[in-house]
Amino acid sequence: MTKIHVETKNLCKEYSGRKVLNNVSFSVERGEFLAIVGPNGAGKTTLLRILDLLEEPTSGEVWINGLRVDYARKDKHVLRRSIGFVPQKPVLFDASVFDNVAYGLRVRGLSAHEIERRVTDALKMVGLTGLERRNALTLSGGEAQRVSLAQTLITDPQLLLLDEPTSNLDPKSTSIIEETLSYVGRERGVTIIMASHDILQVENLAKRILMLSDGRVVKIGTFSELFNKPTEEIARYMRLENIFTGLSKTTEEGTSIIEVEGGLRIEAAFKVDGEVTIHIPPESIIILGSRVSSSARNIFKGRITQIADYGSIIKLKVKVESGREFNVQITKKSFEEMSLNIGSEAYIAFKASSVRLI
Ligand code: ADP
Repeated sequence: MTKIHVETKNLCKEYSGRKVLNNVSFSVERGEFLAIVGPNGAGKTTLLRILDLLEEPTSGEVWINGLRVDYARKDKHVLRRSIGFVPQKPVLFDASVFDNVAYGLRVRGLSAHEIERRVTDALKMVGLTGLERRNALTLSGGEAQRVSLAQTLITDPQLLLLDEPTSNLDPKSTSIIEETLSYVGRERGVTIIMASHDILQVENLAKRILMLSDGRVVKIGTFSELFNKPTEEIARYMRLENIFTGLSKTTEEGTSIIEVEGGLRIEAAFKVDGEVTIHIPPESIIILGSRVSSSARNIFKGRITQIADYGSIIKLKVKVESGREFNVQITKKSFEEMSLNIGSEAYIAFKASSVRLI
């Protein structure tokens, strides 16, 4: 099938009389990258499952390439073949990585030689060459999600649907997944619709963003159209962490110092005078045992107040001396090396160039 254009018209979905999608209408061009953002329970997964033809809308219509989807049709699996879905949690079976990825091609009856070639290419694309023989159930969360993506891409979908594919993954897997999505969108013209909570990801990858709340479309547009004067909205839709507002003053070195209420002074690489709102991505902050070992411009002493284990990554909250709290995300390996506990004293450090203006 050629590239896919998708349109929904007044889509509604009810579960036991409760509306979880309410008159959702939008259209996605062929080869476009659309991100869906919204608080938990907004209806993002339900919408993706309807577009994947797994779930039937209660009312309203889905049109694919100018044809109305008939959810009652027995042969809708033919249309589904051009659609790929990557769920939030990978669904892998107890077999090798190779067999997991090859599955979609085997059911289509391709030759062993062709399957081998395509599996090799798909694993290379997601940076997993060499892991063909490993049991898929022994992989880390990030590797498993990359297998899940390879499993979907190998069937050559023209519409790719993804449900928060990188939430709680390690930074390396996240960036490989992002690069792969950018590649398939750009080079293969695949139409991509992805639910995400990651603002940097959405800004970097998506051409347009659909904001969903309580099952309704709040807005649809480009990143700058939606998040122009953003603070509250961004925080509500993107689960943003480490947002501070303060007074920024440029320095002679061409940087700025932002005075945040409570006595926190943050140095940023941009040059702005006046009130600003800034964001420091949790993965750009490192934890140090002592003050001396970093060239980062921003170093603050604090105490660990919360530790959450997500498998290959650990999320921490660190309360610094000004009383403000930072969310920090580090790999499990560095966490274990530092033997940190709740109440441990630690320094956080981040570069001036990691401070983003929003
Ligand atoms: P999101 O992906 O934005 O977090 P979901 O689409 O998962 O939102 O859920 C939207 C709403 O629909 C939630 O209130 C959820 O509890 C409800 N919901 C989702 N699937 C079902 C289901 N199979 N049965 C009943 N309620 C459901």
